Amino acid sequence: MGLTGIQIFKLLPKTNCGECGVPTCLAFAMNLAAGKAELDACPYVSEDARAKLSEASAPPIRQVAIGAGVRAFKIGGETVMFRHEKTFYNPTGIAVMVKSDEGPEALGRKLKAWNALQYERVGLNLRPELIALKDAGGDGAAFAAAAKKIAEESEFNLILMSDKVDAMKAAVDACAFKKPLLYAATAQNADQMGALAKEKGLPLAVKADNMDGLVALSDKLTGMGLKDLVLDSGAREPKQLFQDQVAIRRAPLKAGNRSLGFPSIAFPCEMASNVDVEMILAAMLIAKYAGIVVLSDLKGENLFPLLLERLNIYTDPQRPMTVTQGIYEIGAPNENSPVLVTTNFSLTYFIVSGEIEGSRVPSWLLIMDTEGLSVMTAWAAGKFSGDAVGTFVKKCGIADKVAHKKIIIPGYAASISGDMEEELPGWDIIIGPRDASLIPKFLRDTWAK
Ligand code: SF4
Repeated sequence: MGLTGIQIFKLLPKTNCGECGVPTCLAFAMNLAAGKAELDACPYVSEDARAKLSEASAPPIRQVAIGAGVRAFKIGGETVMFRHEKTFYNPTGIAVMVKSDEGPEALGRKLKAWNALQYERVGLNLRPELIALKDAGGDGAAFAAAAKKIAEESEFNLILMSDKVDAMKAAVDACAFKKPLLYAATAQNADQMGALAKEKGLPLAVKADNMDGLVALSDKLTGMGLKDLVLDSGAREPKQLFQDQVAIRRAPLKAGNRSLGFPSIAFPCEMASNVDVEMILAAMLIAKYAGIVVLSDLKGENLFPLLLERLNIYTDPQRPMTVTQGIYEIGAPNENSPVLVTTNFSLTYFIVSGEIEGSRVPSWLLIMDTEGLSVMTAWAAGKFSGDAVGTFVKKCGIADKVAHKKIIIPGYAASISGDMEEELPGWDIIIGPRDASLIPKFLRDTWAK
């Protein structure tokens, strides 16, 4: 994996035409090697060189697209063992298992309940993505009917779980538009399952009894031309599964093993006798490399912590989460409403805006770009200075929206008030509370009297 910049340079046209956005082919090669450029930016790469570069620049762990619609997602594509080395890219998909003999009414009730489990957090919608439909009792018609119902009556994408190829075919036909993940090709059915996945262009899970078997099956299926595989080593005992998960991540990254260069799927629902243990296992698997975890049920009190864990692990540690600079209306503010200013660190924004909302005092909230730093950090770094905040207030246009000249600044940035007064002549700089939780009382006491 991974050609050096010089190796890539040797495959480029070397005309230094600059059409790729940098002045020389060497500079482009260096950017390509560092993952800062796309090969398509050079229109003059020969087909032969393109094939070599595409292969060499492919991530060691293949990125696999799962599903369609609003809950479609990608797994795999990871490049590091540990998040702090760079970042993890594609969050673990969360699935819940249901059996095909559930019956349409019970299934409908579950779909409704599960669909409601969505949470807004730092501007993101957190929710599970998948239903793993297990073929129970060998009734292919019931399996296909349940797949159709899930596909047509919910946003969820599907994992179709059956070892019978005929049942799988019927279910695929019933929900093909959702691009389901097929689970699973085994040593017994790999030829037929592989052929079905290839014919329909669907991702295919591979289940073996151990790591050696997994490598053999993966090689067999990739030899058949399949590219989008999801690996299951078959382990259902925590220690062994943990070791397998690490091996599946480590082998392609550290040893260039392409046989295991795919995301994985794990089944905490088949490993625990009670829901608490199941959630602990799921939490471990989200942290330790599972592409998909399958749970036995979805309950808010269990799901929400997993969603938060996933959010934290898959947030780029090198890039603070930010909101866009600008004027935010909270409630329905008018020309007499208070004006507050803070930084664009998303956690700061969501806490402050939440407290203002809780105060029931309609307000204007000015969010200033501090490159995602919180108030104290931005102030210490000179990005939330009196001059800078004053200039921002002048330029943002808030003066056209209000009939007063008062602005509330965070209590922790009280020391910038003098510089702000110089930058904003005629404005009254009011020092707000240090703690966001005191904002409601502050607004009610000082403004809504
Ligand atoms: Fe070289 Fe291609 Fe960039 Fe032109 S567009 S400078 S040929 S890499």
